[in-house]
Amino acid sequence: DHIANQIAAGEVVERPASVVKELVENAIDAQSRKIEVSIEEGGLEYIRVKDNGTGMDADDCEKAFQRHATSKIVHGRDLFQIRTLGFRGEALPSIAAVSKLELVTSDNKEGLGRKLVMEGGKLLSAEDTRAGQGTDMKIRGLFFNTPARLKYMKTVQTELGHVTDYMYRLALAKPDISFVLQHNGKTLLQTQGNGDLLQVIASIYGPSAARQMLKLEGDHPDYVLSGYTAVPEFTRASRSALTTIINGRYIRSFSLMQAIMRAYHTLLPVHRYPLSVLHVHMDPSLIDVNVHPAKLEVRFSKEQELLRFVEEQVKGMLQEQVL
Ligand code: ADP
Ligand code: MG
Repeated sequence: DHIANQIAAGEVVERPASVVKELVENAIDAQSRKIEVSIEEGGLEYIRVKDNGTGMDADDCEKAFQRHATSKIVHGRDLFQIRTLGFRGEALPSIAAVSKLELVTSDNKEGLGRKLVMEGGKLLSAEDTRAGQGTDMKIRGLFFNTPARLKYMKTVQTELGHVTDYMYRLALAKPDISFVLQHNGKTLLQTQGNGDLLQVIASIYGPSAARQMLKLEGDHPDYVLSGYTAVPEFTRASRSALTTIINGRYIRSFSLMQAIMRAYHTLLPVHRYPLSVLHVHMDPSLIDVNVHPAKLEVRFSKEQELLRFVEEQVKGMLQEQVL
């Protein structure tokens, strides 16, 4: 079983960012309103994810580290659930197998909690402790016992880049959750969690960028569009300026990006991209999710209609701005 955990870990835990992703997704699943992530040296030294969610009781927190012990019912077509389908109940055992882990969790407001210490998948200690409700997970020495994997790690800057990319997109997708990201003690992201997307944009891209944003709003029988997109004068050199979110999940969609770009068509200099955060809400039955381990691809059953709608909405708003 120990070996099985290490093999599975190779699939789930590719790099520090994958640990952050799995732990933060668990925190979201646990209904947390505030999620604090602190890492050191790009996460290679240290990763901490602290949440104020439901927490776990003494039994559940040990079970959480047993493979498949926790597979939950998949809720219909919820994108997020489908994405994690392949890994259900595998993240914590996999992370524990390749790190030194300390967990403090409490499922009550009486200050009674449980602390577990693990190393390379082995439970070293389990004891009662004082703790506020929520879960606090600390990971040290990622891949300490899998030197081959450790050798694949890139520079601190590269690993940090993957973590910040993920946290930024998540904060843009979920403005109603407060996120904090710190690296080597420095705060890189802090959002309020009050649902205000423009405030999230300001905390990621800066207050001056937020002032260049136009508000997007659009209704269609099948889609509801919201978000912000920059005035044509405010551009960036990278395509990553465009963020597309479907039903609260970040989605990499080349066709949606292109629909936004078409709306700007002659307004942008070559190789420049508008800062843009697009939220689309739609009936999940219109989304065809193609599950591939570790990556999410979606197709829309009325794709041309959606793309036309997005293009028209953005175009309309840009024209209004020019007038
Ligand atoms: P999965 O998320 O697929 O169920 P994981 O290995 O990621 O599998 O987590 C195992 C279980 O541990 C979860 O199903 C959940 O019950 C519990 N758990 C993990 N993290 C948290 C958390 N931050 N707060 C509350 N419960 C958690
Ligand atoms: Mg999980």
